[in-house]
Amino acid sequence: MLIKEQNAIQKKWSPNRTSIGLIYPNTYRVAMTSLGMQLLYFLFNSWENFACERVFKPLDSEVLPYSLESQKKLSDFDVLAISCQFEHDYLEAIALLHRGGINPDVRKRDEHAPLILIGGPSPTSNPFPVLFTPDVFFLGDIEPVANKIRLALEKETKKEKVEALSNIPGCMVFNYHYNESGEWIGKKVQSIRTKNLSDSFYPIKQIIPDNVKGTKNEPIFGKAYYLETDRGCSERCLFCFVGHCRFPRIGRSLERLMDIIEQASQVNDFEKVVLYGSAVAQSGILDKLIEFIVSKGYEVSCASIRADYLTEDLLLNLRKGKQRTLSLAPETGDENQRFAINKRMSDETIYTALKLAWDIGFRRLKLYMIYGFPSEKEEVKYN
Ligand code: SF4
Repeated sequence: MLIKEQNAIQKKWSPNRTSIGLIYPNTYRVAMTSLGMQLLYFLFNSWENFACERVFKPLDSEVLPYSLESQKKLSDFDVLAISCQFEHDYLEAIALLHRGGINPDVRKRDEHAPLILIGGPSPTSNPFPVLFTPDVFFLGDIEPVANKIRLALEKETKKEKVEALSNIPGCMVFNYHYNESGEWIGKKVQSIRTKNLSDSFYPIKQIIPDNVKGTKNEPIFGKAYYLETDRGCSERCLFCFVGHCRFPRIGRSLERLMDIIEQASQVNDFEKVVLYGSAVAQSGILDKLIEFIVSKGYEVSCASIRADYLTEDLLLNLRKGKQRTLSLAPETGDENQRFAINKRMSDETIYTALKLAWDIGFRRLKLYMIYGFPSEKEEVKYN
């Protein structure tokens, strides 16, 4: 089936344009639920001398990976930028490179192979499982160094591109920072953090598929617009990547978020706004934002909210936005264990939030739980 999409870009390829294959190592449905994919696609395509096309894991395991926009093979691209959100994406990325005829070992690729860049939360937290796959890891947020990356990728040869990237903060580069035995040979590389989200690049136009309802290609939230409210988290739950690699939380202002929705409604056709952020309620503006979105006639979908930030107004606005399921993350049923992992929230706080949600009309509840802490009591494990 041909997928009909709003706002997809198909630029003409030419020798003076750098081509980027933006790979999300999962299916179309999962990839197009990712805000990171939208952000990178529109950022790369906003650069005049670049043409960026998307590559996904084909649903049929016999089919070779190709770009959606103009059916190019992986080896046709100058650069392959792979977005890894979870560690198991590493395995899929390697499998996809194999299937596309690209050697996933940087030590065995030559100057003619595409330059491979891996970024996203997985390498930011731990690049070492795939140390010898990319030419370059990018650690952290791309926005503060996007212009430097553009200039580096505009260089003529792959060698020049890699060398220029090795001088950009956040880039961890094979043969510049570590050698083929995995020994460290360069300066320390730190991940990059955006300081001001309100002023950062945001994809006002987004790709929204139009003819996929009820199919395997339908994104998880349906015909939705993705709104990133904040990034990172100011809590430090011991098990959580976000509270450690992306501390503290930074957020967009209410004015900026309302402005994005106003602009987005002019250039996209969508039914729902999905709020992206690890700590959406910590801003204190969430109920006002949802009220605004609902006043524009859209439904709202919101990720899990900390029980200690749930208020009556917030829950009422979520109901008005047609959110049916409330998601909480108590992590464990044992209060002492919860405090031990630094999720400082009492049982009473959770029960109070649940009672409030029930009274307001929520009848579906999703709980995120972690099972198997070494110190977990037997009765918690089995009851
Ligand atoms: S509150 Fe949530 S996002 Fe923040 S550190 Fe804890 S688990 Fe992670």
